[in-house]
Amino acid sequence: MDGAITGLIIGAVLTVLILVWMMLSRKPVKCAACGREQPAVRTPKNAQQAMWGGYTCVGCGAELDAKGALKKS
Ligand SMILES: [Zn+2]
Repeated sequence: MDGAITGLIIGAVLTVLILVWMMLSRKPVKCAACGREQPAVRTPKNAQQAMWGGYTCVGCGAELDAKGALKKS
């Protein structure tokens, strides 16, 4: 099979798996800084958040990862 097509298929499968995982693993995330619960429906601020499920805290604006831990950046 052509290498480029194989890569596309693997990428598509991974994208679907990540989306399913994000839907199944969704639970309230609390900000590590201020303790505020983040809304279940989040608006990704950038491609990285869309991809990996990070948050920008609705309370204090802190950058959080998918588990609500503060991101050190
Ligand atoms: Zn916060």
